[in-house]
Amino acid sequence: MSATTITVIPGDGIGPDIVDATLKVLDKAGCQFDYEFADAGLTALEKHGELVPQQTLDLIEKNKVALKGPLTTPIGDGFTSINVSLRKTFNLYANVRPVLSLKGTRARYENVDIITIRENTEGMYSGAGQTVSADGQTAEAMSIITRDGAERICEFAYQLARKEGRKKVTAVHKANIMKSTSGLFLKVAREVAERYPEIESQEMIVDATCMKLVMDPSQFDVIVTTNLFGDILSDLCAGLIGGLGLAPGANIGQEAAIFEAVHGSAPDIAGQDLANPTALILAAVQMLEYLGLAEQAGKIRNAVRDTIAAGECVTRDLGGNAGTQAFTDAILARL
Ligand code: NAD
Repeated sequence: MSATTITVIPGDGIGPDIVDATLKVLDKAGCQFDYEFADAGLTALEKHGELVPQQTLDLIEKNKVALKGPLTTPIGDGFTSINVSLRKTFNLYANVRPVLSLKGTRARYENVDIITIRENTEGMYSGAGQTVSADGQTAEAMSIITRDGAERICEFAYQLARKEGRKKVTAVHKANIMKSTSGLFLKVAREVAERYPEIESQEMIVDATCMKLVMDPSQFDVIVTTNLFGDILSDLCAGLIGGLGLAPGANIGQEAAIFEAVHGSAPDIAGQDLANPTALILAAVQMLEYLGLAEQAGKIRNAVRDTIAAGECVTRDLGGNAGTQAFTDAILARL
């Protein structure tokens, strides 16, 4: 049997360091992947004159599975977010962002186990908008929600809940105010909920959800929501378990999947051996599960969990003094 080939995008800022750490961990766990490397982000702009070169898109399309470091989107007119365009190009409609409490972090809670399922292609996050007055002082943005888009993400959430033995799905919305868009999402969420009577279904307005997450995150199990709310809630959830350095994410479509950390390129700590690679390593664990490699996924998850719990060799964001490389070496030693 030939080895699976993964497209690897090192990305910008801390990207190359955490990607390097993650590949070492995958290799040590006995994953026999071939890797094809591709550029995107600022790195690609400097090398090839564009943020996402065609050869990168071709490689993602060919190999179907990609592991991606964070990308810096330059601020200013003319640059649409690279992540948004990758998600749209490959129709990666489901963004799966699990957060799980790990012993040894400086998190305020010990009992968090939430998966946020964020719709990844529609809604207020598309970036579509324009200035509508001659003086440039009035602007509008467009949010489009479709029945098909809402149905497939809600179906995805319930299917995942069923497969993973989860008990409850909470549909998060703002249908009381955004009656047309969020209203349609909620209507469809209710219809889909009826198809899964064995799973408890709950609906909650987004502002109340934020408050309840902070008061008692243990009441949440699976959250399904639209693009922008999912973006915000998943960072909030990352904060509940100890920060962005710990939160992975998978972008999944029918034809391809891209695995990445929730966090960005962290320019403030880039090149200083300070980045925590855990989020990307856990994204690689999601990738292994997606590929049906549960044994290797479990091995890596345990090694990460035990290294953080031991607390002797962890990165600064986790309260330690270790650099990216020393922390990675500690994980490799446990593997
Ligand atoms: P960020 O997530 O890069 O950083 C926010 C804070 O968290 C910073 O203080 C940073 O040092 C810290 N942090 C992030 N990851 C960490 C890690 N692994 N270990 C330790 N600390 C970590 O967010 P930002 O500064 O708002 O964005 C920087 C750039 O990243 C922007 O260009 C943005 O567009 C991009 N971005 C990319 C992605 C992606 O590629 N998926 C996601 C978010 C932001």
